[in-house]
Amino acid sequence: MRVYNFEEDLNLSPANSDELYMREALKLAHQAYDEQEVPIGAIIVAGGKIIGKGYNLTERLNDVTAHAEMQAFTAAANFLGGKYLKDCTLYVTVEPCVMCAGASYWTQISRIVYGARDEKRGYASIHDKIIHPKTIVQSGVLEEECANLIKSFFRNKR
Ligand SMILES: [Zn+2]
Repeated sequence: MRVYNFEEDLNLSPANSDELYMREALKLAHQAYDEQEVPIGAIIVAGGKIIGKGYNLTERLNDVTAHAEMQAFTAAANFLGGKYLKDCTLYVTVEPCVMCAGASYWTQISRIVYGARDEKRGYASIHDKIIHPKTIVQSGVLEEECANLIKSFFRNKR
């Protein structure tokens, strides 16, 4: 008798899982939005599990370093009990700034996936060598949703 393994059918392709995880990061970005923080969310995934989360807290903490990625790096390192994030993926709704890209360098993270580009403050337009040579970067996952959230935040601020 042949038994179908439905779980296998449900296995996510890498592209689908990127979208799925980006949705989780977007949820955090919405949370930031609701708290009147610049709406950027980040999660860190290892072995199909979310091991770190963060969203922008610069207003609440009065701290310019309290970016979503920084919170997520710290949370993931605490979870793993080690500072390196090899075999981990960072999902972040907006292109990291130079500070966060620099922090990602020190974590040696395997992959960075981001949604919207940030032409002004994104690391790539300033110095794309900040990323660790072993880190693979992918952009444009749920780009429109990520960008629209930021746009509507700044529109309402004016
Ligand atoms: Zn940053």
